[in-house]
Amino acid sequence: MDKRVYELLNDQINKELYSAYLYLSFADYFEEEGLSGFANWYEIQAQEERDHALIFRNYLHDNGCKVKLLAIDQPDKEPQSFLDPLEMSLEHEKYVTSLINDIYAAAAEVKDYRTMKFLDWFIEEQMEEEDTADEMITRMKLFGGDAKALYDLDQEYAARAYSMPSPLAAEE
Ligand code: MG
Repeated sequence: MDKRVYELLNDQINKELYSAYLYLSFADYFEEEGLSGFANWYEIQAQEERDHALIFRNYLHDNGCKVKLLAIDQPDKEPQSFLDPLEMSLEHEKYVTSLINDIYAAAAEVKDYRTMKFLDWFIEEQMEEEDTADEMITRMKLFGGDAKALYDLDQEYAARAYSMPSPLAAEE
């Protein structure tokens, strides 16, 4: 595998684990604020991010590349309102999209069609992540000011259940 493509893929393991850490910190924020449904939503989100890290890890293993785990940064965002974590999530997912695009571009440059195909799932996933984050912002802006509506929203997010991302499930 091309050295730069390899390094970007290996780095992405770390970025996805950081995402998990960041979303866990948002789950903590909502837990402390008494919105345990939102906390549940972010706990599951964190689990999915760890899964993303594993998908990159497995891909490197499947291609005979050595995985090098790096130190995970401390989450650096401190929400001050219910809207904050949601807006920070959208901003973060846009950043992750740019990282996936960078890997794709590096793979395209060296005609690494296998890695491009592997990344297709993440390209679609990022569209969903941004769409979901955007929707949560809209709903919080619409309903966050009303206690009963916020309670209902929290109940809805409490119902989110974990399901393993398909590339990881396929490996089982
Ligand atoms: Mg991710």
